[in-house]
Amino acid sequence: MILVTGGAGYIGSHTNKALHSAGYDTLVLDNLSKGYENFVKWGEFVNCDFGSYDDLKNLFNSYDIEGVIHFAAFSSVGESVKQPAKYLKNNFKNTLNLLKVMKKFEVNKFIFSSTAAVYGNPEFTPIPENHPLKPINPYGQSKLNVERALEKSDLNYVSLRYFNAAGCDFDLEIGEAHVPETHLIPLILDAAIGKRDSISIFGDDYNTQDGTCIRDYVHVNDLADAHIKAYEYLQDDNSSNIFNLGNGNGFSVKEVINTCKKITGIDFNVEISPRRDGDPDILIADFNKIKSSLNWNPKYDLDTIVESAWNWHKKINNDVCI
Ligand code: UDP
Repeated sequence: MILVTGGAGYIGSHTNKALHSAGYDTLVLDNLSKGYENFVKWGEFVNCDFGSYDDLKNLFNSYDIEGVIHFAAFSSVGESVKQPAKYLKNNFKNTLNLLKVMKKFEVNKFIFSSTAAVYGNPEFTPIPENHPLKPINPYGQSKLNVERALEKSDLNYVSLRYFNAAGCDFDLEIGEAHVPETHLIPLILDAAIGKRDSISIFGDDYNTQDGTCIRDYVHVNDLADAHIKAYEYLQDDNSSNIFNLGNGNGFSVKEVINTCKKITGIDFNVEISPRRDGDPDILIADFNKIKSSLNWNPKYDLDTIVESAWNWHKKINNDVCI
């Protein structure tokens, strides 16, 4: 079976669902600090912290684990700037602990959730994988530290550098629900549904056409599909590799807001706030490498991303499902 750490979280739960649709058996490890137990609707669940060597050792002793897909991490850029030690400990040091246990049990297939934040402020765009790595926030640094540790290890690994994961499961069985929410699309949809008075644009003086930051939004199901392709790539004895995971299209914060207004049919207040620390002007992926090596292509555009997120948003606003 495949161990999915952080499988009760946003990207982890969508990938866990996709793994089961593809016929894999999974063991989901999550300490529920950010995830939800009822997002684990597939496979077996164990409430455990991947920072505990003894707990992991017991787990690897009890289950027949053939590979690990490692999502468990803190992922808020703003929080990482305020609390860097928390990010270095959980995202980096605790991952070293997991790698140590994998080595002991001779489990050597590893898929790692990395991030476009390893590039920092890009020197050119779209960004290929061999672009210089100069993270400008502790979140990106914590992920880069793991990539460097992986290079020195003898694991067979794939690092997937996510751009902006967004959207939700089309069946609405699982979705995006961060507490507190810091991500742009769910916050905009909160404004649309009336849970917030307005959406704040963090800075309109960036070096972009409309002054707001440009990001590459990729549907979470496209991300999930890439994990399966990456795992199969390792099963076929290919060597370790690093891939960008993005759509190759950039949208400014203002464009995302306008798309949300169009899809929801709701007008809401928008205000301009100061810049958020640690935000580069533009992040757009060059995804040619994963396209040619794994035959991965993103299927969903921004309208579909927002539509799926909106359907989920309406559902969680109506039900008490999480
Ligand atoms: N953003 C914003 N207002 C918000 C939340 C985010 O203007 O309330 C901007 C943020 O500065 C960034 C983009 O939206 O340029 C995407 O931010 P998010 O936190 O969703 O993802 P990140 O890029 O940090 O991974």
